[in-house]
Amino acid sequence: MHEMGLVQNILEIVEQEMDKHGVAKIAAVHLSVGAMACVVPGQMRSCFAILTENSRLAGAELKMTIVPVTYRCAACCKEFTSEGISLECPCCRAGAPEMIAGRELQVESLEIMD
Ligand SMILES: [Zn+2]
Repeated sequence: MHEMGLVQNILEIVEQEMDKHGVAKIAAVHLSVGAMACVVPGQMRSCFAILTENSRLAGAELKMTIVPVTYRCAACCKEFTSEGISLECPCCRAGAPEMIAGRELQVESLEIMD
């Protein structure tokens, strides 16, 4: 289960941000998860609960927003989303569009508890 390591990285970032801003407790962590990031949201949530159990993050919620896989065509500059791996532009049929979103796993914001 590689989610455990990913959540560990996320928690490091969260703790650093909390220290930086002098925040003692947070209600939720907002995460962007690319559709191609290869993570299972349910497992992310379980790992998060396990890893935060005895920390100051205990009870915080992990909120995930799934980012669709987005491509940009090099030929016509059209941006489009895809359910999976796209091999050509739906507009001009040029090959090898560049993936510009969909693999991210990123902390977007922290909800502060007061
Ligand atoms: Zn195109």
